[in-house]
Amino acid sequence: MSIENEGWSRVKARLRTEVGEDVFTSWFARMDLEGLDDDGVRLSVPTRFLKSWIQSHYTDRLLSCWQAEQPKIGRIEVTVRTAMRPPVIKAKAPEAAVSREVAFREHKSNGHAYPSAMSPTAVFESLGGSPLDPRLTFETFVIGRSNTLAHAAAKQVAAGRRGDSVMFNPLYIHAGVGLGKTHLLQAIAWAGTTERKVLYLSAEKFMYGFVSALRAQNTLAFKDSLRGIDVLVIDDLQFLQGKSTQNEFCHTLNALIDAGRQVVIAADRPPLDLETLDERVRSRLAGGLVVEMGSLGEELRLEILKSRVIAARAMHPGFDVPLPVLAFVAKAVTHNGRDLEGALNRLLAHSKLTGQPITLELAEREVRDLIRPQEPKRVKIEDIQRVVARQYNVSRSDLLSARRTANVVRPRQVAMYLAKTMTLRSLPEIGRRFGGRDHTTVLHAVRKIEGLVGNDSALAEEIELLKRQLQD
Ligand code: ADP
Ligand code: MG
Repeated sequence: MSIENEGWSRVKARLRTEVGEDVFTSWFARMDLEGLDDDGVRLSVPTRFLKSWIQSHYTDRLLSCWQAEQPKIGRIEVTVRTAMRPPVIKAKAPEAAVSREVAFREHKSNGHAYPSAMSPTAVFESLGGSPLDPRLTFETFVIGRSNTLAHAAAKQVAAGRRGDSVMFNPLYIHAGVGLGKTHLLQAIAWAGTTERKVLYLSAEKFMYGFVSALRAQNTLAFKDSLRGIDVLVIDDLQFLQGKSTQNEFCHTLNALIDAGRQVVIAADRPPLDLETLDERVRSRLAGGLVVEMGSLGEELRLEILKSRVIAARAMHPGFDVPLPVLAFVAKAVTHNGRDLEGALNRLLAHSKLTGQPITLELAEREVRDLIRPQEPKRVKIEDIQRVVARQYNVSRSDLLSARRTANVVRPRQVAMYLAKTMTLRSLPEIGRRFGGRDHTTVLHAVRKIEGLVGNDSALAEEIELLKRQLQD
């Protein structure tokens, strides 16, 4: 472990003792050290909510913990790290030995950790749940192959009335980043606001409410405030941290479901993969309707873009993007809905600032950095064997056989070479797939062909041709 990391571990241990186990896991468990110099520390957390919470409540505490370690430190900077960029320095915190009882007692004596005057009900009232984005409704949600089922289930849930028997409970939607989870969840929340009491909360807000309740010794009011609602919608459940928060979540979940109230949950992975959650919670979550949303297909991306242009035009009447440009963006920006939105915002900004029409060239320039390299197509060993056999007019079983005649030895070596260079399979694995050969045989074949293509341009060309056939 580097000296920096050791220091960071000690700071975390100190912090954990000072604020108690629950506060620590709620707010600091996902904090990483990004950088350290003589007088300043850079720390990162995964969400903006965490950042502002820590800044407004714990800057002094963090600073004093660091100063105990390195007296010269005078500056703490907290940043939000993006999902794409892993932190530079990572240190695993040692498990704390603080007992829960002690931790709770420290909560109470910890003067400035929470706005103690606030009762948990007040907390939720002041929160009113997490804020809803008026753009995220069913009207603006575009349906495509990857989200039909999730959309239908969400619609069904949103159409429920107070007292109806609940069909899917909980409804659990999982998908990767930017694929529309929050959009669907907020659409449910918007749709329900008139008749039923719907509470939309990020998992972090749930934690906030509960930990505040602990602090105010008012968990009963917290439970009441949650159990009085008809539909509980929790977003990004993978962020739920801390044993007692999770226990409380488990109780809430059971109580609501048993009372016939609707629970809707979104997370970035299926219930059984939420490693930090208790086995019971995971199976309860898996017991409702679990729906996955896949990646946005090109058609769906185009439809989303079109609807975004129409929406933008309501505010900016002059804004127009020709269809070929939209088609280009839909083709090029493949990653997720957030990047699509970003691409369109740039085009909009450009159009507003310059007043010039949006051309394909302009779009290419503006969205260049949003284009991620296409994942190369996955090539399978069977495909390689099939294509090579056809090319050299032998059978696939010849390639796998023990025969050593020249007309099968060379094709077999070519096929093994392609398997090594075009797939991620290991030498032993390739050997197994070629009739149970030893990995040294495969290595020999790969070296042989590598040596030959340097001098034999006909063979080099043949191999290029095979590669091309395998890649389309
Ligand atoms: P997640 O919560 O899964 O990370 P979001 O719901 O925040 O993703 O979606 C990211 C962006 O993509 C949002 O602007 C959202 O409106 C948009 N988006 C995703 N899927 C759709 C869809 N099917 N129709 C319209 N917009 C979508
Ligand atoms: Mg989301």
